[in-house]
Parts: sequence; structure tokens; C-alpha cells
Amino acid sequence: MENATEAKISLKLFWDTNADKLVFAEAGKDFVDFLFHLLSLPLATVTRILKEDMVGSLGKLYETIENLSESYLQPNQNKNALLNPRAPICATEIPLMLSDYELHNRKSYVCSNCNSFVADVPNLLCPRCKQKMSSAVSYVPPSPANTGFPVDRGFIKGSVSFIVMDNLEFMPMSTKNLLPLLRKFNLKESHELEEMDLKLDSRQVMRLLKLSLESKTVFTSYYQLLLSEALKNACNPM
Ligand SMILES: [Zn+2]
Repeated sequence: MENATEAKISLKLFWDTNADKLVFAEAGKDFVDFLFHLLSLPLATVTRILKEDMVGSLGKLYETIENLSESYLQPNQNKNALLNPRAPICATEIPLMLSDYELHNRKSYVCSNCNSFVADVPNLLCPRCKQKMSSAVSYVPPSPANTGFPVDRGFIKGSVSFIVMDNLEFMPMSTKNLLPLLRKFNLKESHELEEMDLKLDSRQVMRLLKLSLESKTVFTSYYQLLLSEALKNACNPM
């Protein structure tokens, strides 16, 4: 069921209806932040998110390691740290969805004695006092509220619009960038294009993540997916 309060990413698709082809998508900061974020995700995180839907063999590999008895592992290795890696925090607050899990579950461990060191895994010996570092502490992401800097979340500055191509190549929205595109599709002006508004929730963002691994025409593939679902629903009404 759709969650009305969930943040959504807006996207505008522009189609050449004569040629039945996507010319480009217009996106704001939130979608381009999402594109940046895709590349910052560890492979194990992508595999965990997609698992059964994953093309290739990584889903099976993930499952095998998940089910392997700890007794086969070196005592200093932690399977959970491998299966749930920490996404790098390269911006103030990671934008939307994919990393919420990492952020809200991110724990570090300290000893309860001298508090001089932190560890990613529990129960290491503190280098200073030699007590077990077993007290879990939560991670606090930097934000304007706790840094005092008026920094916006995510990667991209302010309210710039971007042209995003079907293969996820993107560039700032400008006449200089737009005209060659229109020329390529033999269009004279952008009003010859048909607009389609999309609002992406977390489920749809996962689908785009999956398509970005499989397809060189991500938006077209996404649109075809929506069409085939609409068709299926029309044939099998609830
Ligand atoms: Zn200590």
C-alpha cells in the first residue's frame, strides 16, 4: 500500500511521440542525488536490497555466505559486517531511502571504562584499558541542526535542473545542452515533446536501481514495466 507521508522523488519524462522514443528526463536535485548515491552503495548492500531479483550470481553468493556456519570463519571475522556493510557517508545526510537502513542501524562499540577508542564490531579489546569494547553507541549523521552549517542534504547544490538521458548520463539543463538533443530527434522546439510526470517512492526507486544494473535504457524499460503492469491489472481486475 502506498504511504502518503513518504518522501517522493519527482521526475519528468519527455517523449517524442512520433518516433515513440524517450528524448530525455528532467530531474531536480533529489533525483541526481539518488544517482550519486547509487554509485556510493557497497556491492553487498545492492545485493541485499535486490537479492532474488538480482541478475547474475551475486544473490546466491550472498545467501550462501548468510547461511554458512560461523564455525568456518576466522574468529576475528564478522559475517554481519560483510553482509551489511556501511555505506560511506560522503554528504550531510544521505538522500532518501536506500541508506536509511545503514544510518538507523549503524552502531559502533566502545569500552565502558576509558572510552578512548571505537570499533565497528563488538567485543574487541580496548587498546588502552584492555577491557572488552561491548557498549553499543549509535551513529549521528551530520546535519544543519548539529553542525550549525546551513548545508543542504545530499550531493548537489541548490535548485538546479538536470537533463538525464535514458542511459543515466546527465548534464545541467541549459539551451546549449538541450538543442543538440532536440536536433538529434529532428525536433525544432521542446513543446513538440509529450511530458509525463513521475513521482517515485522507495519501491519504484528500488526498481530503478535494478534496471540500472540490467538496462542501457533505464527510463524506457521502467515505462514498459509500468505499461505491462497496467495491462495485467486491466486483464485481472481485483
Ligand atoms: Zn578502554
